[in-house]
Amino acid sequence: MTQINRPANPAEHRRTKSIASFATEKLEALAAKGLRRTLTPTARSGQSKALRTGRDLISFSDNDYLGLSTDPRVIEAGISAAKQYGAGSGASRLVTGDNPLNLEIETKLSTMKGTEAALLFGSGYLANVGTIPTLARKGDVILLDALVHSCIHAGARLSGADIQIFRHNDIDHARTILEQVRTNGNILVITETVFSMDGDSAPLSALSVLCGEFGAWLMTDDAHGLGVFTQENPAPIQMGTLSKAAGVYGGYVCGPNEFIQLLQNRARSFVYTTGLPPFVLGAINASLDIIAQEKTLGIKAMENAKLFCRMLNLPPPTSTIVPLIIGEADAAMAFSAALEENGFLVTAIRPPTVAAGTARLRFTFSANHRQEDIKRLVGCINEARTT
Ligand SMILES: *Cc1c(COP(=O)(O)O)cnc(C)c1O
Repeated sequence: MTQINRPANPAEHRRTKSIASFATEKLEALAAKGLRRTLTPTARSGQSKALRTGRDLISFSDNDYLGLSTDPRVIEAGISAAKQYGAGSGASRLVTGDNPLNLEIETKLSTMKGTEAALLFGSGYLANVGTIPTLARKGDVILLDALVHSCIHAGARLSGADIQIFRHNDIDHARTILEQVRTNGNILVITETVFSMDGDSAPLSALSVLCGEFGAWLMTDDAHGLGVFTQENPAPIQMGTLSKAAGVYGGYVCGPNEFIQLLQNRARSFVYTTGLPPFVLGAINASLDIIAQEKTLGIKAMENAKLFCRMLNLPPPTSTIVPLIIGEADAAMAFSAALEENGFLVTAIRPPTVAAGTARLRFTFSANHRQEDIKRLVGCINEARTT
């Protein structure tokens, strides 16, 4: 066998570019669309305070709905677990990283959700990218609500299944798609209990009935529901995060015992990654106890959201997430900057996180917010709107 015309340097045949200039072009394209993002160091502390660019702000942008991330009981429980077991967990769960706190937490989660079993993951993102490909593969169909979180899309794509999208919360559209689906494989329908950018909730019982009719499985993402907004959830598979209302970090999946065992064997983002560190486990453990025992925290957070909506003549909120749609990305950025001038941290959410033309301010309410701060915030919003 002879090799003909083999170039001495394979790169000669291609246009080569440094990594830096490759990245610069991409970044400039983002900036041209007003979509380039940058980091801003932010020191959070109790009572929704955030120190940012030398300014003391009150944050209305955290997902820490119950204020548990700064709760001394949660912090102390984390510290004592770290002192007992160390800073890291040492290995993946299947090797030596299965700290006993994992099972304690999983038992609490499955009790809370009314499922047989539960499994902790490193984060909600990892839970979705591990669970979805365990449930579905090439030849199967995954039907997603149009507004589900990016990591659900990532998991669906990783699965190799055929992905279909139904209009947000539109059961009739979901039905139309299911009627047209031709597969001998499985059908998996995924939605969120509370939608992260709009704060509205999914019609779970109607979706569950629909799934029953078509022999499809229903999976829900409860990232923004836990501890704040709970509706009857008939879904056999319920995932969520411990990084939001629980105030710590980590993800979980609740479901039938056999499925949880299958995840332990097959979910790559579980098998091939290190167990959560003891501090995190200790903190989650305390946080879940507080969520179970102190229902007033969730109620207080909801009351703060309601007060805000009432004062701005917005429809009553279904969750602690209240969007104020501005439109263009630049306008949303300017609005956010005006609120920051007045001491409020409210981040603008821009495409591609939300659809083009629906850039918004996303207000999130916490049990930690004081009514007088919400009133002053509303005053500033009204002022920014008229100027
Ligand atoms: C935040 C979020 C996740 C990811 O959870 P993390 O623990 O932050 O990785 C997943 N799904 C939804 C709907 C979310 O809002």
